[in-house]
Amino acid sequence: RAKEKGRNTYRFYAAKMNAQSTEQLMLESALRHALERGELEMYYQPKMDLQTQRIVGVEALMRWHHPVLGMIPPMQFIPIAEEIGLIVSMGKWALERACADSRSWQKYGLPAVLVSVNLSPRQFESRTLIADIRAVLETSGLEPSLLELEITEGAVMANPEHAAKLLRTIRDMGVRLAIDDFGTGYSSLSYLKHFPLSTVKIDRSFINDLSQDPDARALIDGIITLAHGLRMKVVAEGIETTAQLDYLRSHGCDEAQGYWLCKPVPADEARDFMAHHMRNQFAPSVVV
Ligand code: C2E
Ligand code: MG
Ligand code: MG
Ligand code: MG
Repeated sequence: RAKEKGRNTYRFYAAKMNAQSTEQLMLESALRHALERGELEMYYQPKMDLQTQRIVGVEALMRWHHPVLGMIPPMQFIPIAEEIGLIVSMGKWALERACADSRSWQKYGLPAVLVSVNLSPRQFESRTLIADIRAVLETSGLEPSLLELEITEGAVMANPEHAAKLLRTIRDMGVRLAIDDFGTGYSSLSYLKHFPLSTVKIDRSFINDLSQDPDARALIDGIITLAHGLRMKVVAEGIETTAQLDYLRSHGCDEAQGYWLCKPVPADEARDFMAHHMRNQFAPSVVV
């Protein structure tokens, strides 16, 4: 009976695993055509300066509109793209779109904002990364100082010496660098000083825990103090409530990004949001 039960359990898991890998394979083969079929789109999420309340930047976030399954979240397709190496071409496309969209907002008449693009570990290892960044800047005509690349601890810690060299090359081009999801990795704060980073992004999980968890607050305060000590700017991601916003502002955080301000939206909506926000801000009767 035990044997029987074991076999059934095995069958159950085998079927489940099969279903999972079939779905995985389906997504994988669909993803191979997503770019050429125009199924990818860049969304943008605004970031606000906590002192001036101005919109000072946007983060570019990729979206995949699957023809049958609808919108697939990045958490689901980015790891697949990373695994099969597709992320390199998708990431280059993301850079192109972000720079082009940013230029078009400028031409529309909006004040220049920083555009931040996520870079995956695999892209970071790609031999063409530097050439790709150069080409994209040249084609779009975007000022390098208006582009920021977000990297994760994992990408730099895999090979810190190589990473430091690569990051210096990028910094010397005038492009800014941010460390993303800070606090979730295994590395200590002190390694930050070895890399030419201009921005630290505090991970959403700490912001989420802020109100219930004194440890989360201690970590946030520590990150802010250390980053400022190293002359880096601090951005908090995932701000959903006014209480979180107030806490971060009063504790010296520089910028905020989150649903409280705006969800990630398509390029045209981001443009309209920024135009609207800027209009309201300078209207004398409106208190933001
Ligand atoms: P990330 O770079 O840390 O981006 C921030 C994520 O937090 C985004 O999720 C954003 O929609 C979400 N977020 C922002 N504010 C809030 C909030 O107030 N509440 C909640 N619940 N969520 C908030 P998204 O767009 O699903 O992207 C997830 C991750 O996928 C990104 O995390 C990034 O690691 C990756 N990703 C997205 N686009 C790209 C891309 O173009 N290239 C690469 N390599 N990775 C990307
Ligand atoms: Mg990011
Ligand atoms: Mg992040
Ligand atoms: Mg994150």
